[in-house]
Amino acid sequence: MLASGDELLTCTFCPFRAACIQLVKPAQSSFDGVAGGRLWISGRVYAEAPGVDPDELEESKLRAVCGTDTGWRQHRSYGEEPCPSCRSAMGLFNEARKFTTAAQAA
Ligand SMILES: [Zn+2]
Repeated sequence: MLASGDELLTCTFCPFRAACIQLVKPAQSSFDGVAGGRLWISGRVYAEAPGVDPDELEESKLRAVCGTDTGWRQHRSYGEEPCPSCRSAMGLFNEARKFTTAAQAA
């Protein structure tokens, strides 16, 4: 048995369970471990702390990792200025695309 759920008693009175789930996004990230008063295995709840509220399970949409061209696009779609890591990644992506386009034209 992986866990009995007794490990989650610490989470019973934690005021950050919903924030914890928002940060980890266990369902969307197929998380294994303890987050938000639950033990998760492959993004599914395996055990719960006593008294948890199902409303805590609401997760905002998982976003791309910064430092990627997808991260750059998501910054733009959320109306944000892309961070330096994403700007750098998009610059490299555009350079690589120019290189590939030039190679295909030759
Ligand atoms: Zn970013």
